[in-house]
Amino acid sequence: VRAQVMELINSPGIDYDMIGGLDDVLKEVIESVELPLTEPELFERIGIEPPTGVLLYGAPGTGKTLIAKAVASRAQATFIRMSGSDLIQKFVGEGARLVKDVFQMARDKSPSILFIDEIDAVGGMRTHDGTTGSAEVNRTMLQLLAEMDGFDATKNVKIIAATNRIDLLDPALLRPGRFDRVIEVPLPDEKGRMEIFRIHTRKMKLAPDVDFEKIAKMTNALSGADIKVITKEAGMFVLRRRGTEITMKDINDAYEKVVSEEENNTPHGM
Ligand code: ATP
Repeated sequence: VRAQVMELINSPGIDYDMIGGLDDVLKEVIESVELPLTEPELFERIGIEPPTGVLLYGAPGTGKTLIAKAVASRAQATFIRMSGSDLIQKFVGEGARLVKDVFQMARDKSPSILFIDEIDAVGGMRTHDGTTGSAEVNRTMLQLLAEMDGFDATKNVKIIAATNRIDLLDPALLRPGRFDRVIEVPLPDEKGRMEIFRIHTRKMKLAPDVDFEKIAKMTNALSGADIKVITKEAGMFVLRRRGTEITMKDINDAYEKVVSEEENNTPHGM
């Protein structure tokens, strides 16, 4: 059961330079998650306590998981991912116990980053109608709060949670000693989109007509995940015509394809 509900990576091998357009976010995450793990004496010297947990919120595909993995890599920490929605949907009746197990594992494998994706599935506002499903969700949530409250800051475990729907979160989660640092992960701006495009085409052969500025302009309102999909699709167009390099036309075609799929509501944020 464990293996299915959580993903465990010893050091995910993601570097900060693989993340585009999120410099301010990274600065905050480094201060509140990386430094407490790598240089705890900095905090002791001043007499301040690092946050127990950090909540990242923002649209799907903006790089929340990527950030958590990068911090774990940099801090040489174990990365443990648990999905809030899996916990509720796939493991009915076991949620509370699994939360307990995953926190125990995070302590055993420390230094570690425990990443709780889609936390809104567990920590949504408790306004349900009292059906068994929601009672189960409540028990899971209470276990999560209990684990966080019993947390020993010296144990070298940091918790990062992520959500697309901060509006649905139970405010109890945001109290001091729980997720007391809330960081927005925004959609990339034009410069950010250009960086992300560069990152995902680093290993690709690009024709001289590929215009990064134009691409950054036309991908307005798209996420990092969308941009990654565009680069992959463009590569596939080249492959199909047995070409050797990606041209601006491939990118335009890929963009059209991705945007029309988006309009048909095909999720590709994963
Ligand atoms: P979700 O809320 O849907 O779980 P997320 O915010 O966790 O999404 P990620 O899973 O981190 O998003 O992003 C998916 C993929 O998109 C990443 O693995 C990465 O390849 C790419 N990506 C997203 N944002 C960025 C970024 N800012 N820079 C570079 N690549 C990015």
